[in-house]
Parts: sequence; C-alpha cells; structure tokens
Amino acid sequence: MEWVDGAKCVACLTFDLDAEISWRNILRRHKIERDNPVVLSLGQYGPRAAVPRLLKLLDRHNVRAGFFIPGEVAERYSSTVMEIYREGHEIGHHGYSHRNPASCSLQEERDELEKGFAALKELTGGKPKGYRAPAADMSSNTYSLLSEYGLTYSSTMMGSDLPYIVEMDGKEIVELPIRWILDDWVFFGFNYFPALEYQSGISSHRKVFEIWSDEFDAVYEEGLYYMLTMHPQIMGVPSRAKMLEKLIQHMKSKKGVWFATPLEIARFWMEKGGK
Ligand SMILES: [Zn+2]
Repeated sequence: MEWVDGAKCVACLTFDLDAEISWRNILRRHKIERDNPVVLSLGQYGPRAAVPRLLKLLDRHNVRAGFFIPGEVAERYSSTVMEIYREGHEIGHHGYSHRNPASCSLQEERDELEKGFAALKELTGGKPKGYRAPAADMSSNTYSLLSEYGLTYSSTMMGSDLPYIVEMDGKEIVELPIRWILDDWVFFGFNYFPALEYQSGISSHRKVFEIWSDEFDAVYEEGLYYMLTMHPQIMGVPSRAKMLEKLIQHMKSKKGVWFATPLEIARFWMEKGGK
C-alpha cells in the first residue's frame, strides 16, 4: 500500500468533542430527570481544561487532527471550537444533540443533520465534509442522508483495515473505519453515577500505550491505516495527554508515516478509486 508521497502508512488522530451532552443523554436514557451537575461537569472538563492542553500538544508536534463536534456543543462552546478551527484542525459533523441516529425517525435524523450543519457553518463559514455518527450507531437511512447532504466521508463503521467506498443512490462516500481497541473510552471511560454505565474500571495508561503502540507497529508493518478515536474529556487529563505525546513521538520515530486529517485520507482514497 503506497500512501501520499510514498508514505508507508497513514496515521490519523481524531477527537469527539461531546462535552456534557452525551452525559445528559445518558441521564435521560436512565429516566433520571435531574441533570446531575457532577456528571455533567465530567463532560465540561473537555472544552474547559482538556482542549487547550491537547491543542498545545498537537501544535508542538505539528499534527493536524479531526474534531467531530455536535452542533449543540459548537453553540455552547463557540470560542473553544473557533480555537480548534483556527489551529487548522478539521471540524467534522457529529449530530446536533448527540442523539443516536438509530433512535430517530427519518425527519428527526434530517433535522439533527441540518441543525448540526447550521451550528458549525455559523462558526467556520463552511460546511463540514465528514461525519461520525453519535453513540456509535447508524440508522438504515444514515448513508443515504449523508450522500444527499454531500458529505465526502463517514467515520463510524468497523468493517475493514483500510478505508472503503460505500455506494448509495448513485453517489459514493468513503468510510474511514474505526476500531474499539483504538478508542480511549473503552479503557478509561468511568463514571460513578448512574452505576449502570461506565464502571468497568480505569486502565493504566501504560497498558493502553502498549496496546496502541503495538497496534501501530503492526499497522505500519502491513502498510495500513491507523485511526485513533479519542474524547478530550477522557484523553486530555495530564497523564494521558503525556501518553498521547509519547505515542506521537513513537509514530514519528518511524520513516514514512503520513499524518493526515480524515478528510485528506478520504480525498486521497476517492482519487485513487477506492483501492
Ligand atoms: Zn460522541
């Protein structure tokens, strides 16, 4: 597999900036009427404390990442989102209220998409080209809607080691697959209340470094594609941000690694005809 400028493999860092709204949705799902302020503050840590640290880190290493941002978060934290955008990172669509598309009617899913586009366009002046479905789920309408709204890629599925093309209604969308072992939430997601979700424990970041760097080494050997999915509220705490820095240094120590944004990869894949 030969990537841009003869690179041997591609590395892509992405962050889903859910802030507190995914926690709010969890509380509602458990029929908890009150918005527990401590639970919400877990998510508020993302834009407040984690994003500034992560932006400095990415800048130090001159790496551009992709940030998938729900429209509601863009409205609440407009200055943070503008800061991300000004630093040259890609901003992708992540729904409006972080509702699971599979729980939406066709019209509701359309509304989520349109309101998300409007909120991001208000800040950046442009329409995002990429989409990651909130809550890691899709409805049977999602791909059709993405192609109707002119998105270049989706990054939600887990069906391959490499990007692939999805044909829908005569149009093509690139799918940039993710995988659970390269997702920070799996290892570090923790909350005290409600006890029904996210009490699996808090992993050592050393263990996660081992998993992530071993996966990178194997991907590099096979000349594939490495897509990390992170969340500022999880990965932006001091020790984990340091671990991410160590991982970037590890990746940079190898020759021929193309650090790309998701859109750069999707365009490259589309141009070469999806093979
Ligand atoms: Zn999310």
